[in-house]
Amino acid sequence: MGAPGAEILRGIHLIRGRVSNIYLVETTSGALLVDAGTPEDPEGVLGYLRAMGLEVGVIFVTHAHWDHVGGLKRLRDVTGARVAAHREEAPYVRGGGTARRRFEPVDVDVEVENGTDILGLLVIHTPGHTPGSSCLLDGKKRAILVGDLVYEEGGRLYEMHHHYSRDPHMNRKSIARLLEYDFDHVLPSHGNPLLGEGKDALRRVVESFSQ
Ligand SMILES: [Zn+2]
Repeated sequence: MGAPGAEILRGIHLIRGRVSNIYLVETTSGALLVDAGTPEDPEGVLGYLRAMGLEVGVIFVTHAHWDHVGGLKRLRDVTGARVAAHREEAPYVRGGGTARRRFEPVDVDVEVENGTDILGLLVIHTPGHTPGSSCLLDGKKRAILVGDLVYEEGGRLYEMHHHYSRDPHMNRKSIARLLEYDFDHVLPSHGNPLLGEGKDALRRVVESFSQ
């Protein structure tokens, strides 16, 4: 068994969760899992890890929404991985979310902030969708994992619908700031990854703000 997973770039795997994407990044210091999906997703993720023979050292949480951390407790318990999240997001991970949608609380072992290096990837704090929402930049693979900062549909990127975001205006500023970084591939949590033309697609999102 195992969830539908595939290596989409050398050393980066996409595992499709029920609702959101889970990414697995191979690093020289072990594998890094980005987000944990819904409570229904861990078995598929664990099956894929077993099939690939990969061991997860760190689970990075882009933000504490149910469809990204619902499976976190189980994945952490089984893999023994350390959980990393931005320090402004950590209280929500530990607290089991907000009243809107609850999940099993999980302790955060590593609190990160803008600029933190985690297994060779750069943490970029991109608040707006939630206070501690963060992206991960893999400079060597020229890929950026953006969580819910933007999503993909029909080959284009869009900002998250405003009613899902705590501060949509700040989210826009965070999206625009990403253009300062160097990357080709954009890996969102919802929709398909944009390989090669990711930065151009992101630039079009920013341009749409002034129209
Ligand atoms: Zn979200």
